[in-house]
Amino acid sequence: MNRFHFKLHTLVFAGILLFAPVFSIVAIEANPAKNLLERLLQGNQRYVNSETVCHEDWSAKRTALVKNQEPFAVIVACSDSRVPPEIIFDQSLGDLFIVRVAGNIVDDFAIGSIEYGVSILGANLVLVLGHSNCGAVEAALKGMKFDNHIQEVLNVIQPAIAATKGETGDLLEKAIKANVKIVEEKLKSSKPLLANLLQKGTLQISGGYYNLKSGKVEILDK
Ligand SMILES: [Zn+2]
Repeated sequence: MNRFHFKLHTLVFAGILLFAPVFSIVAIEANPAKNLLERLLQGNQRYVNSETVCHEDWSAKRTALVKNQEPFAVIVACSDSRVPPEIIFDQSLGDLFIVRVAGNIVDDFAIGSIEYGVSILGANLVLVLGHSNCGAVEAALKGMKFDNHIQEVLNVIQPAIAATKGETGDLLEKAIKANVKIVEEKLKSSKPLLANLLQKGTLQISGGYYNLKSGKVEILDK
């Protein structure tokens, strides 16, 4: 190698060292969660098409995840047996950190779990997922009364029912979507952690609606 080539190589190498971290930081900061939402939607499309790929070779997956987990998204879903997030998004062990409560509502325990998934495990996306024919929202819409803890769930959903009062069309679908929006806003304003990460731009909180019949997830705030 002559002197000129040595200098050229040194300059190129120095250039890579100088600029590569800058480029990668810019790329990460542009929108860390956008690709994650796309990853979920691509998995959902595979599920809709019955072309799922994520539920094979459990043994290798289990072994790889024994010591650590790095889920990329937190899903706040309804307990409904027809809406299992790993299946409808075609994701595997270790991919999703999931909070499931009837009516996909959140209390302090749920928010604490979400905070853990985001700040300790490193997920950059939180998706609040409602679904068609949600029994919890339907019971709240019908004003059903229970003398047990089911009533607590319905009480928390009531603001979504109030938000859709006087509207026409499919009131149940509108109330389910309003409920997703209310939970989403609650998380977005949750201090100290979630609101701060949102402000920093390292976290995205979105809402979605799962159609029981088609299997399709629609993003409500795209
Ligand atoms: Zn439900």
